[in-house]
Amino acid sequence: MPELPEVEVTRRGVAPHIEGRIVEQVVFRREGLRWPFPPGLQAVLAGRRITHTGRRGKYLLIGFEHGTLIIHLGMSGHLRVLPPGIEPRKHDHVDLVVSGPEGRQVLRLHDPRRFGAVLWHGNEDGEIDQHLLLRGLGVEPLGDEFSGALLHRETRRRNAPIKQVLLAGDIVVGVGNIYACESLFRAGISPKTPAARISRARYDRLAEAIREILAAAIVQGGSTLRDFIAVNGQSGYFQQTYFVYDRAGVPCRNCGAPVKQIKQGQRSTFYCAQCQR
Ligand SMILES: [Zn+2]
Repeated sequence: MPELPEVEVTRRGVAPHIEGRIVEQVVFRREGLRWPFPPGLQAVLAGRRITHTGRRGKYLLIGFEHGTLIIHLGMSGHLRVLPPGIEPRKHDHVDLVVSGPEGRQVLRLHDPRRFGAVLWHGNEDGEIDQHLLLRGLGVEPLGDEFSGALLHRETRRRNAPIKQVLLAGDIVVGVGNIYACESLFRAGISPKTPAARISRARYDRLAEAIREILAAAIVQGGSTLRDFIAVNGQSGYFQQTYFVYDRAGVPCRNCGAPVKQIKQGQRSTFYCAQCQR
């Protein structure tokens, strides 16, 4: 599943090909994905210039002067930039045809499992941050607002295990299952510890671990950036070297004890009982 780093790498990959370009055509090859596609989007976007790209959590934002196109990659989606005239493959559901100095290019959304989304938020509907899907999101983990102090402050009344509090996304976004497991390992914090019982100093370490791990994933993804724009390339959901994630029973890379796997809120948690307290 695309996590925050994949979405950010996607944004960085497609941005130079679509920013400043004019939308010529919007092609939908089905009625919708997770939700119906916005009716009449062709008329809304045709002839309009893409002013910028952005990201909020795992939502990719394509900005226009009159509103924002919101794209979510769901469970299995990816975006590629292609030259015109390439036949769509199965599961290529949406094309945004843009024109610019290098001629025409196609931003194509591929989504086999169809949990993705394409939504339009016009300026008349208010600030994009207030969109129903965005307004409850926590702070960006790579932004200035995120810190150990914030984690500490926002968890004083949260007795749920820290792993689940991270996954909830209402304090900080983008710390999905993999990154929550890995960050807690790096910070030496057991995923089972009630969030309210973790000290400020340990939250400082956790915030630093989250930043480092997400930033490293983005850097690594950047090295596979080419894949996002290759005509026949595989989309890059990058495999990192994990310390605990998906390593149940395998010796901890730090202490050699077998990595444990438990269920927390239907999700698998991997951790080292020796290294994480
Ligand atoms: Zn260990």
